Amino acid sequence: MDLYEHQARELFAEHGIPVPRAEVTDSPKEARGIARRLGGRVVVKAQVKTGGRGKAGGVRLAADPAAAELTARQILGMTIKGHTVGTVMLAQPVDIEAEFYVSYVLDRAAGRFLAIASAEGGTEIEEVAATRPAAVARIPVDPAEGVTPAKAGEIAAAAGLPAQTADTLVRLWQVLVREDALLVEVNPLVRTRQGQILALDGKVTLDDNAAFRQSRRSADAAEHGDPLEAAAAAKGLNYVKLEGEVGVIGNGAGLVMSTLDVVAGCGARPANFLDIGGGASAEVMADGLSVVLSDPAVKSVLVNVFGGITACDAVAEGIVRALDTVRLTKPLVVRLDGNNAVRGRAILDARRHPLVQQATTMDGAARRAAELATAV
Ligand code: GDP
Ligand code: MN
Repeated sequence: MDLYEHQARELFAEHGIPVPRAEVTDSPKEARGIARRLGGRVVVKAQVKTGGRGKAGGVRLAADPAAAELTARQILGMTIKGHTVGTVMLAQPVDIEAEFYVSYVLDRAAGRFLAIASAEGGTEIEEVAATRPAAVARIPVDPAEGVTPAKAGEIAAAAGLPAQTADTLVRLWQVLVREDALLVEVNPLVRTRQGQILALDGKVTLDDNAAFRQSRRSADAAEHGDPLEAAAAAKGLNYVKLEGEVGVIGNGAGLVMSTLDVVAGCGARPANFLDIGGGASAEVMADGLSVVLSDPAVKSVLVNVFGGITACDAVAEGIVRALDTVRLTKPLVVRLDGNNAVRGRAILDARRHPLVQQATTMDGAARRAAELATAV
């Protein structure tokens, strides 16, 4: 999950990285009050999860509270690279002497982290990296050793950053480790004319697989994520909302991924990814069905199960019991194969639900579900 700049800024501040004073709002009127509190002159910054805001006119200086209100009004509602601006951050302006770039990113191929740093930070960093790669230092970081003060000194020296940035480099590493981030980036990290080091912009990508041990994140996800995904997460389901009309439920991530492909191959679009896992109990099936059916875009549902340790008859019992608790409002195509498939199919047949039909192959089931979804 990517964070907004103001969320990244909060994390930086919590870990002792100096940041300018700032507040967030979605109201131009409030922006005026915030500017007053921050001393009058402010930088008004669009809060969108994309870079290049400065170049797009989403980062602007306002000379006084009245100008801050006007600027906030102009920036709110703007679209930057397809992202609509819903909130702005107002920050105390800084007298910049030099702009640096620093980031830590997971280098999956190498199985370690990479520190990337440059003394030529700011809005042209991509250009610098493309035209003069030597101006951007790339230093491997061993995850077990991390960024010690000595390592920070090495990174600063390699990139040509002043030695006084070392403390921030160490703390930024602590943000990455303690918050379970895959990426932390500060661009620009600045030295002010007063000689202070400040993080003026921040980008943080959190590792969603670590969310379970970062308890305060769940509230955030519920607030900012897709409501269906939040409801599914609350039930412990592995669900991802997609853009189509065929609801998909399967057991095992690989099988569900293939099912999405087969649905797409039949000319329909999958509405979601939902892996109910190996167990596939009646309760999980009922939870899964209720989440998928509550998506208004869904026109048909495809259940694709390959019986293994949990045999098809158990899955079929699960579906039958789920049909008692969830009101089926859309056609359901079920394909059961693998362990005890014949017995499973017989159990579903015996239920004789008017909206449930069975198919024996994955392709056949996907074709039927696609037809049902596109017919209406
Ligand atoms: P981005 O374009 O999305 O990366 O947004 P940034 O927050 O990095 O802002 C873009 C540029 O605006 C920075 O590189 C700075 O040059 C400039 N900027 C941002 N905040 C301030 C500030 O407080 N004072 C001054 N003088 N410039 C700022
Ligand atoms: Mn930036």
